[in-house]
Amino acid sequence: MVKIFATTFLMIFLGACTSKSSLEFPVSTKVKFAEKPKNIILLLGDGMGLAQVTAAVYSTYKKTNFEQFPVIGFQKTIASDNLITDSAAGATAMACGIKTYRNGVGVNPDTIPQQSILELAELKGFATGLVSTVTIIHATPAAFIAHQKYRNFYEQIATDFLKTDIDLFIGGGKKYFDRRDSDERNLIKELEQKNYVVANYFNNNLSSKLMDPNRNFVFFTADNHPLSKTQGRDYLPKAAKMSINFLKNRSKNGFFLMMEGSQIDWAGHSNEPIQLIDELSDFNQTIGVVLDFAMKNQNTLVIVTGDHETGGLAINPDSKMKKLDLAFTTNDHTGTMIPVFAIGPKAELFRGIYDNTEIYSKMIEAYGWNATN
Ligand SMILES: [Zn+2]
Repeated sequence: MVKIFATTFLMIFLGACTSKSSLEFPVSTKVKFAEKPKNIILLLGDGMGLAQVTAAVYSTYKKTNFEQFPVIGFQKTIASDNLITDSAAGATAMACGIKTYRNGVGVNPDTIPQQSILELAELKGFATGLVSTVTIIHATPAAFIAHQKYRNFYEQIATDFLKTDIDLFIGGGKKYFDRRDSDERNLIKELEQKNYVVANYFNNNLSSKLMDPNRNFVFFTADNHPLSKTQGRDYLPKAAKMSINFLKNRSKNGFFLMMEGSQIDWAGHSNEPIQLIDELSDFNQTIGVVLDFAMKNQNTLVIVTGDHETGGLAINPDSKMKKLDLAFTTNDHTGTMIPVFAIGPKAELFRGIYDNTEIYSKMIEAYGWNATN
């Protein structure tokens, strides 16, 4: 049963969703892409359905970066045990190519670990990275590197980060690495022993000066969860630029990078329209940074999608451009299909309507690899 929980008349500030990118529109007609991608950048807006994208587009008179993409598809997000998925099952589908149950991270319905595209990329000598605006051990980034029965096994998920030689990760959740309840391990010391540069918000500003091109890089943006964009968090676009510049020099083969606009989901759960637009604006700006690189590089496939919709967002009657009347039908996830935006070599694979597991198989096909499951 659907009930209107909250209706808020929203005044959106001028240019709230405007990217600082130098892109001209449309970019795709001016760029000659390579035949197949060397790099893939997957941008996930957690909880970002079509209504969220629409709200981002209608909250400014300027064109958003969503409107740059020549290829659009839709993914079906159903989990193995429920029509309505969660971030764990949704991300596992895209990371590992299998449907699993809600709460499962990088495992199949029998809780057997499944190799992720990030792990496969590592085996193939590619550079890899994960960036999140919540804790790095949260369900979405976790599904790309960890294998746990439940998404809330945070300390076990943190341990899994040491089992793969991931080149870079940036996000919150430092305490799960160095102040653990389940054991005495200090995973930050262990990362340093594994040749990682580990820096954090407490001592440093996020900056490429902290990076050593010959060592892996970790930056913790918070002890637990980073702030919302509305509260002042601003690192995602910067992290995107730094991560790309770092990863492109880490392997001659190429790289795989997943970056998450994580708190779009939280704004949906809490039915907060201003926060929602702020998070979408941050994500849009990050897409601009990625497109700036990808259009010059021409060897990079960029995919922007979400894992599920959150909040049952509606754009109500009486809405006007930049003055949207946003309403929510739930504080949970919904089952609406999720748009997929693609640009770059092999982007055409992402046209049509398909299961979320095909995000994985299409990325594997784009790289020219053989799927392992
Ligand atoms: Zn959620």
